[in-house]
Amino acid sequence: MTHCVRCGGEYKHMMKTQTASYNGGSLSVSDFPVKQCECDTVISLSDGVLIDGYKLLLERHGIIGKVVVSLGKLKERYPRPMDLVLPYGQTR
Ligand SMILES: [Zn+2]
Repeated sequence: MTHCVRCGGEYKHMMKTQTASYNGGSLSVSDFPVKQCECDTVISLSDGVLIDGYKLLLERHGIIGKVVVSLGKLKERYPRPMDLVLPYGQTR
């Protein structure tokens, strides 16, 4: 069991909406799992790369405005998050 570095309390698993802004708009990803303590210290779990990748994709396509999507949908659409980060046409 991990404890909060700030207050020593126990983290709880929660679902939050993560928001990231990019050139032209903002991206909100709902149902994003985090660990949060009573003192509001938040630790993101491993799916941050998916948010970064999708943000890059939106920016690359010049999409403006507010984009809202659930993490589940993103995972379904992009099972390999690294594909989002790589430039087009590049294969691994
Ligand atoms: Zn705490």
